[in-house]
Amino acid sequence: MDTSVIDERPPEPGRPEPESPERARTAYARPQPHGSLPDLVHGELLPADERLWVPQSPDVSFRPLVFGVAQGYYVNLLRVRRSGVLSRHRHAGPVHATILRGRWRYLEHDWEAVEGGYAYEPPGEVHTLVVPDGVAEMITMFHVTGSLVYVDPDGRATGYEDVFTKLDLARRHYAAVGLGADLADGFCR
Ligand code: FE
Repeated sequence: MDTSVIDERPPEPGRPEPESPERARTAYARPQPHGSLPDLVHGELLPADERLWVPQSPDVSFRPLVFGVAQGYYVNLLRVRRSGVLSRHRHAGPVHATILRGRWRYLEHDWEAVEGGYAYEPPGEVHTLVVPDGVAEMITMFHVTGSLVYVDPDGRATGYEDVFTKLDLARRHYAAVGLGADLADGFCR
């Protein structure tokens, strides 16, 4: 698009007034709203420092991106380096999954999550995560709201996971490997 040309048409409802190219490049001049939280940036999603991956069970680890303690959610990369059944669980809130590497599926569905793809899991969904044979590694960014309740095949609760169990694991691990528990606290919003 040629940005030097000003759109002379009258603005439609909901569309911003056209600006000159110079004004369009001008940064917001006022303070951020009072009460808004500081932003949070990770330079590389797949870090060179292996210590940033928090072991969760054999061959399963996660790399936390945001601990949403004020709203009960977390965003993390889940990395699985073995094939087979991972866990059966029920979600209290919605889940957004972006698949960065490998592939996986749920026993309860006939679709497969593939590298480069995305999946939405609705609240109330119960499923059993499986990494197929031949997949040496899968890495998925999961945005999980609410709790993840581990269940037996009849839906009876056997355990749970939420932003606070994840934060606790990360704090302990980062302290143990010399990064410091404070690093995990810095991901809290
Ligand atoms: Fe799930």
